[in-house]
Amino acid sequence: MKPYISIVIPVYNEEKNLEELFRRLTSTLDALAKPYEIILTNDGSKDQSSRILQQLHERRPEQIRVIEFNGNFGQHMAIMAGFERVRGDIVITMDADLQNPPEEIPKLVAAMERGHDVVNTHRQNRQDSAWRRFVSKMHNKCRAWMMPKLKMEDEGCMLRAYSRSIVDLMVATGEATTFIPALALNYAYNPTEIGVAHEPRFAGESNYSFYGLIRYNFDLVTGFSLFPLQVFTMLGLSISGLSFLFVVFLMLRRVIVGPEVEGVFTLFAVIFFLLGIVLLGLGVVGEYVGRIYQEVRRRPRFVIRKVLENDVVLEQYAQQKVEID
Ligand code: UDP
Ligand code: MG
Repeated sequence: MKPYISIVIPVYNEEKNLEELFRRLTSTLDALAKPYEIILTNDGSKDQSSRILQQLHERRPEQIRVIEFNGNFGQHMAIMAGFERVRGDIVITMDADLQNPPEEIPKLVAAMERGHDVVNTHRQNRQDSAWRRFVSKMHNKCRAWMMPKLKMEDEGCMLRAYSRSIVDLMVATGEATTFIPALALNYAYNPTEIGVAHEPRFAGESNYSFYGLIRYNFDLVTGFSLFPLQVFTMLGLSISGLSFLFVVFLMLRRVIVGPEVEGVFTLFAVIFFLLGIVLLGLGVVGEYVGRIYQEVRRRPRFVIRKVLENDVVLEQYAQQKVEID
């Protein structure tokens, strides 16, 4: 049977969480009584996650599908690899560490069934360390200011739902550095946002250091806005404008007051004017280089080592394990 709901989960060193995730997730989805599949991408874990994922697949071969990367390509690439293989109509992403309670999934499905094509979420009573909450808050504020068109309250919550057509569009972009919730909003026709519960990590620690978080957030800013480049253009423009006024002022002074300190200020004015133009030019070139840079890096986004799945052929299971090694 073709799945109706597809759950996509990136996994990186989550050996202690997978069993509990499986238990809570399958009991929630079984209760929904709709056909579903769960796609877990192992993003190059160094612990026992790979072995545990294989066992989970063997326990429920029709529902649990596993993609094994041959290295660590990052959370968003792991989700993209899952997106490439989804079969359901409603696609839901979530974390493997149980910070996103699986029990919230029916809320997302209900919102999708009301006709929305993207269901955004924000975390209610966020359960993270104080510094993490602070960084997130600052970043969400900055992002809202730099990218006013991106209407979301909390970019960091990955428990979200997308319609299959939005997922297919996201896959078609082929972007190597991306930020899935923002990408989805670019294509959404009728998005909505709901609040979902948040829990502390079931076991283990966050995979993101402070530096990792900054780099991760930079993907969002550079991927969806040219604001940082435009700052330079604006700077160049204002310096040129101001120094032009300064030149006019000095010329008038020369006529009214007469010659002053041997032309030193005139020289300053000319230099500032030129400096402004140089900065302006650099900004304009930067705009182009930034755009080209975004397009041109067509490296393979990730490498899949192995896929564990039962091929569904025309509504009937061909009980044949696809294992590409
Ligand atoms: N993750 C991943 N690859 C990475 C880092 C994280 O697939 O390089 C997964 C991780 O297993 C989890 C999700 O992404 O399912 C969120 O990661 P984490 O809980 O460490 O981040 P946080 O909740 O602290 O933002
Ligand atoms: Mg987490």
